[in-house]
Amino acid sequence: MTRVVTRFAPSPTGPLHLGHAYSALTAFERASPGHFLLRIEDIDRDRCRPVWETAIFDDLAWLGISWPQPVMRQSERAFAYAAALDRLATLGLTYACRCTRADIRAALSAPQEGVAGPDGPVYPGTCRGRNLAPEGAAIRLDMGRAMALTGPLAFTDSGPEHPGRHIRDTRHMVKTIGDVVLARRGWGTSYHLAVVVDDAAQGVTEVTRGADLFDATPIHVLLQRLLNLPTPAYHHHRLIRDDQGKRLAKRDDARALAKYRAEGATPQDIRRMVGL
Ligand code: GLU
Repeated sequence: MTRVVTRFAPSPTGPLHLGHAYSALTAFERASPGHFLLRIEDIDRDRCRPVWETAIFDDLAWLGISWPQPVMRQSERAFAYAAALDRLATLGLTYACRCTRADIRAALSAPQEGVAGPDGPVYPGTCRGRNLAPEGAAIRLDMGRAMALTGPLAFTDSGPEHPGRHIRDTRHMVKTIGDVVLARRGWGTSYHLAVVVDDAAQGVTEVTRGADLFDATPIHVLLQRLLNLPTPAYHHHRLIRDDQGKRLAKRDDARALAKYRAEGATPQDIRRMVGL
């Protein structure tokens, strides 16, 4: 069998909850022995805290999960994101954008517009062709041009909600995703760019993550194609929901692993609670 290298990529912005436990355990069990990787997604300097990173290590070790050192931290990878952005800029696929959220909402006020993509409303393209200076601006991908370069995209998902092979054409990418942000103002990257660059740098062969990120996957596959990086297999697992059927979020501290631990739960109890 071929070796499966996969990862768990939490952001240290709060306590891990049952949903994270399910995601981490699923990835750990799908990985070939010794090939489960941990990546700390801490590009959002305002929200990430070292104390939450320590809590992540503690909770995962308690669950019986182990990972090789050193752990990759996105806050230490600005050079890699800058190189990827440069390459996309050289291909003529990026532009600077100075729109605020309010500007975008105002531009989308026509009733037929405002389709929601994986990052919220599809950007109306206000700054495309304006040739603004990149300093202090966000950087967007020109989706139309990017798709003209790659043609249709394909990826496979082995998860329960979207099993099989998926194809995305230019029309789909332009209409329902649009000119995504590759670098947020002052960040030097965005979630999409960082995840693609880092999965490749870590040699990830299967991306295991929640089904809530399925709609972001075509963006990642496109960036892999543009940056000449391999496209891994995808496994978008089911989501752990609360009693009302809502997906658990970081603010659901009531379901924090640390709280169950403090109340005397065992790792086996956690596995049972998430249906493993
Ligand atoms: N950092 C993301 C999160 O905490 C996960 C990203 C991914 O798995 O691609 O939701």
